[in-house]
Amino acid sequence: RAGHVALVGRPNVGKSTLLNRLLGQKLAITSHKPQTTRHSILGINTLDDGQIVYIDTPGIHQRGDKAMNRYLNRTATSVLAGVDLVVMLVDSSNWTDEDEMVLQRVHRSKLPLMLVVNKIDTLKQREDLLPLLASLSEKTGIETVIPISARNGDNCDHLEDTILQAL
Ligand code: GDP
Ligand code: MG
Repeated sequence: RAGHVALVGRPNVGKSTLLNRLLGQKLAITSHKPQTTRHSILGINTLDDGQIVYIDTPGIHQRGDKAMNRYLNRTATSVLAGVDLVVMLVDSSNWTDEDEMVLQRVHRSKLPLMLVVNKIDTLKQREDLLPLLASLSEKTGIETVIPISARNGDNCDHLEDTILQAL
């Protein structure tokens, strides 16, 4: 199995932390070099049974009027061209307008979509997790919702497996 996975999400949800976690454990090639004008490769994870290329999505987490205009004018389809799967990260502690913007954009791409709920280590009560996942799934319309802590690695192996299976 192999494929290109776009990691999207507003600033501060933990994308870089997750990447370090995924790439650091099974060290492979990492590069921030822009590959094309559309994609920046964040890293390539070579596993026993496949290879996952993680890319960022320029523009998706920019703010401000100009950026917003660019954002709206460029179709998600062109920005996410060549991507096999979109993984959207959110912070378990809150859902913001920026998350909503990212969601609208990824929905327009019509690509397979997975939701990763990060920072579950910050939840006050373990029992809050399942209702949170259910409500996020309902809010976003995304069926596959995976809770993780990128910081301490909780469930990150499961995430990687799920990504591989989806490719
Ligand atoms: P990015 O902007 O999406 O790339 O987010 P970063 O990876 O830079 O993380 C933003 C902040 O959230 C940093 O202070 C991270 O240490 C913190 N963070 C990331 N993942 C976790 C997590 O799983 N748990 C907690 N508690 N903090 C996290
Ligand atoms: Mg980052």
